[in-house]
Amino acid sequence: MSGKVYLVGAGPGDPELMTVRGLRCLRQADVVVYDRLVNPALLDEAPARAERVFVGKAPGAHSCAQEEIHAILLRHARAGRTVVRLKGGDPFVFGRGGEEALACLEAGIDWEVVPGVTSATSVPALAGIPLTHRAVSGAFAVVTGHCMEGDRLDWDALARIDTLVVLMGVSRLPLITAHLLRHGRAPETPAAILEKGTLPDERVLIGTLGSIAAETARVGVGTPAILLVGEVVRLREALAPEALLAAAV
Ligand code: SAH
Repeated sequence: MSGKVYLVGAGPGDPELMTVRGLRCLRQADVVVYDRLVNPALLDEAPARAERVFVGKAPGAHSCAQEEIHAILLRHARAGRTVVRLKGGDPFVFGRGGEEALACLEAGIDWEVVPGVTSATSVPALAGIPLTHRAVSGAFAVVTGHCMEGDRLDWDALARIDTLVVLMGVSRLPLITAHLLRHGRAPETPAAILEKGTLPDERVLIGTLGSIAAETARVGVGTPAILLVGEVVRLREALAPEALLAAAV
């Protein structure tokens, strides 16, 4: 009897932001296959006997063999094991979870997705920035700042969306902000960089669309980080926790 692959969202970083269902799966795992963005504290939730397999990719090393990850998942499932594929945030938001689900499907392996709390909404929320707000923002878009994917994005349309959440964009900020400015977004639009969101060493950088790339280069921002663009960033002054307001760089 073959096992099953659970594609489980680990949440944005703080282990408390994993779902109850995800945690239940993790506690029943024979094998945990996890990414770089998964908080290591969560691995302690798997049974002691469970095998832990790290398949993380270094930032920028995007070509790391996805096929290899598929092979690992299928091999363990075929051996009858319960496999938890633990991914940062939500598995189906820029997590290549869809590809892994298709690989299971094609191989005839039972699979299930356990949605996670995506960093795209939770990191801004805990930094005091609602993505929508009456009379301020009626829409948000979550986009990738990764260059290859970026070629397919309609920047003209994106520049007109109230709130933009850009994942995987820190290393390409000058390019991304230039795209938005060129397509008509005002340079004084508030912008924020949220680094290591929901974690104790979180940092927040506030600026404008026109200034944020240069500011980020000056201060130096690590990964993971989100770029947020839109008037909602102003709400942070009222809604951010004291500690995070003080931690702004
Ligand atoms: N599936 C994930 C996203 C994977 S893409 C999710 O739903 O959250 C990886 C990108 O997510 C990073 O480049 C960064 O932009 C963002 N990210 C993930 N965790 C983050 C965190 N704790 N703080 C800031 N950004 C984060």
